[in-house]
Amino acid sequence: MKFFGAHVSAAGGVNNAPANAYNIGAKAFALFTKNQRQWSAPPLDEKTIAAFHAAMAKYSFSPSQVLPHDSYLINLGHPQEEGLDKSRTAFTDEMNRCSLLGLDRLNFHPGSHLSIITESECITRVAESINIALSQTQGVTAVIENTAGQGSNIGYRFEHLRDIIALVEDKSRIGVCIDTCHAYSAGYDLSSTDACGETFEHFDNVIGFKYLMGMHLNDDLKARGSRVDRHSNLGKGTLGMAVFEYIARDSRFDDMPLILETPDETLWREEIEMLYSFAI
Ligand SMILES: [Zn+2]
Ligand SMILES: [Zn+2]
Repeated sequence: MKFFGAHVSAAGGVNNAPANAYNIGAKAFALFTKNQRQWSAPPLDEKTIAAFHAAMAKYSFSPSQVLPHDSYLINLGHPQEEGLDKSRTAFTDEMNRCSLLGLDRLNFHPGSHLSIITESECITRVAESINIALSQTQGVTAVIENTAGQGSNIGYRFEHLRDIIALVEDKSRIGVCIDTCHAYSAGYDLSSTDACGETFEHFDNVIGFKYLMGMHLNDDLKARGSRVDRHSNLGKGTLGMAVFEYIARDSRFDDMPLILETPDETLWREEIEMLYSFAI
């Protein structure tokens, strides 16, 4: 089954997210389990947790339809001790928050070397950070997202994700999320059905579909290979619709959250309807 949805607001409490998703016709959603621009947050209280579980049941969402996203501040490949420690503590806390909410995966951008260490040193740090987080938590898979390669971000080559996975001890709790805008900005061609076939075959060879735990469906405001991360609403960017039709029709993308992070959220209902029309 196809689970299309969007990154919805959790304003007023995470327990509001399932209704926000349901109200736009979504069968999947992403959310932040805390303020994404702050390092720390008060722990989730019993009442909020119970209300979240009740809302999940009411709107018939299962964990495989939900892709929580971590804070933008976290850099698991941070070159400096203080930033790295802070990031690792915050990431473990976010894994625990997901666990309390009964969610089984946490999506994050791998990290940035800040031009202080090499890409490969950064990759090693990210993997160490994941190993630490996995050893201190239970039941939640760490889901690495590919990046556009903006600034000093790693993760713009499938090989970076492969190399991180190779260093993770518990392979049963590591996965990936592919963002279509990021992949295209990083240089992967997704502009036609044939190009999608080739790019996803390459993805399967380098990383493997068995690690795919979700997708971010965004058109791209910038050119292919720009290394700039600017999302666009579907059909309003440089990417075109071929990749979204491809994903909708291909069973390798079944039973996982397929999430819009497009800038104009008033279009989400329409975009989800369109994606479902492709899937038939
Ligand atoms: Zn994304
Ligand atoms: Zn992005």
